[in-house]
Amino acid sequence: MKERYDVVIIGGGIAGVSAALTCRNRGKSTAVVANSSETSSLYKAEAITNYPGILSASGREICALLDRQLEESGAELIRGRALSVMPIGREFGVAVGSEFCMCSAVILAAGITREKLYPGEGEYLGRGVSYCATCDGMLYRGKTVAVIGSGEEASHDADFLESIGCTVLRMTKALRYEIRGGLKANTVVAGEEEHKVDGVFIIKDTVSVTKLVPGLDYAEGGIVTDRQMRTNVPGVFAAGDCTGKPYQLAKAAGEGNVAALSACAYIDNKEKEK
Ligand SMILES: Cc1cc2nc3c(=O)[nH]c(=O)nc-3n(C[C@H](O)[C@H](O)[C@H](O)COP(=O)(O)OP(=O)(O)OC[C@H]3O[C@@H](n4cnc5c(N)ncnc54)[C@H](O)[C@@H]3O)c2cc1C
Repeated sequence: MKERYDVVIIGGGIAGVSAALTCRNRGKSTAVVANSSETSSLYKAEAITNYPGILSASGREICALLDRQLEESGAELIRGRALSVMPIGREFGVAVGSEFCMCSAVILAAGITREKLYPGEGEYLGRGVSYCATCDGMLYRGKTVAVIGSGEEASHDADFLESIGCTVLRMTKALRYEIRGGLKANTVVAGEEEHKVDGVFIIKDTVSVTKLVPGLDYAEGGIVTDRQMRTNVPGVFAAGDCTGKPYQLAKAAGEGNVAALSACAYIDNKEKEK
């Protein structure tokens, strides 16, 4: 990862790749932060027959083409999960795991987050709840933490926390979780059981977009944008399923293109103002 890019795109599905190709065509340095393509909606589609120019192809086949096109575009692919986008002056800081980069504009192309926040997750985020073991683990050395998540990354993070001296409660199977506490989180309810903890690490594939960018307008299942795919946060654009229905490839690709053109225009205008 470099220290700085013109544009950082979060999500490497069709919306994110479409945005990246246009940003590169406009000469902008571009990074795409993306989970593996297996996590995209497209990967799960058996046969796509309504995308112009493709008679019929499986989601996996189109994902492989997108990965290749992204690789050849000159955009940098950063494999991982973006954890936060923080406005810093007139720019943005993007955290990916324990790494960090700056950019002038951000395009959210994170698809749909089907997982809802657990009760207490949003309230205690940053106050005993964390999404990143490598970033915050040291704060809990010698203490008891819960790791909630059933994927490979959750298991890896639990191993890491144990290796630095935490007592780790691995929570993979409960039907419901709730985080409770006072000023800080101190209890996890997993199913019917209550556990006293000093910290909670929640490791899902995605981070809810409303938690990713503070103050982002979200309504009716999507990030609110105008027709230029601008969100209410200047410099932050959004495209694809994360902006709401219809959940369709052609709409996602089109919005990715418009979001990229708007992001490039935003950066050019900022340059002129200098
Ligand atoms: C079974 C199925 C069949 C479908 N069939 C059709 C069809 O026939 N025709 C059609 O037009 N559409 C179809 N769709 C819908 C289509 O697949 C979606 O509309 C399209 O893939 C949306 O693209 P996207 O780029 O917005 O999101 P996605 O493809 O979901 O990509 C978003 C990516 O961003 C990643 N991401 C999210 N958060 C982060 C983060 N914090 N950090 C890093 N990466 C992150 C996700 O893991 C994911 O890989 C189908 C969908 C499904 C599930």
